[in-house]
Amino acid sequence: MKRDAIHRRNQELRNATPQEILAWAARQFEGTLAVSSSFQPLSVPLLHMVSGIAPKTPVIFLDTGFHFPETLAYRDRLVSDLRLNLRIARAKEPTDPSDLASRTDLYKRDPDRCCYLNKVEPMAEAMREFDAWVSGIRRDQASTRTTAEVVEEGAGVVRIHPLANWTARDLFQYMHDHNLPDHPLFERGYISVGCAPCTRPPRAGEGERAGRWAGSEKTECGLHTILRPGSRVASKADADPSDGLEKA
Ligand code: SF4
Repeated sequence: MKRDAIHRRNQELRNATPQEILAWAARQFEGTLAVSSSFQPLSVPLLHMVSGIAPKTPVIFLDTGFHFPETLAYRDRLVSDLRLNLRIARAKEPTDPSDLASRTDLYKRDPDRCCYLNKVEPMAEAMREFDAWVSGIRRDQASTRTTAEVVEEGAGVVRIHPLANWTARDLFQYMHDHNLPDHPLFERGYISVGCAPCTRPPRAGEGERAGRWAGSEKTECGLHTILRPGSRVASKADADPSDGLEKA
């Protein structure tokens, strides 16, 4: 899509619901649309909408090899319950065995590189066959995301964010209204869940994503920064605490 077409579409979709945005994307990019999901506690509303509006859409899950077993179990449950068209993307196996060994604790030494190898590169590779990418990013998640538009262009594809205008409270309400299951770690205080070595539950008063790469300056893996035009790897200084995370 050309820049002026994207601008026009954002104007048209400014007050649209996530379901209307998703339905537009499914029509506009029929057969060339993919959704990404990390199957974390607030992923299920978007997946539920996909299952109802565009059920054949491939759902790409990045298997970094570092996920909590609870996330993998939740993924499998949702794939079965919602009949999702799951696709698993992984980093390419290094040809040099010493390279493989060096990656096992790369998250400690160089988390940006670890995320690049395990998330950014495999996602870029997986998206080669698609023209448009739906993801669940929201403006209220962190200050690194406050400028997210409903429709953007980046990494050679059109990026669509049906939940851009929604808050965590909206998602909890949707889960309640549709009786959707919780991630097994939610009851232990986790809200934003990534790889196990890089995630802890947020503490009282902290923002939704404060437990990601806690104790470091890193706040984003790069999927929503490196793969967006004119963006950069964000630092903790950009993160905003957000409130309103209690379940409806
Ligand atoms: S979140 Fe942590 S373990 Fe997962 S890819 Fe990034 S640095 Fe590696």
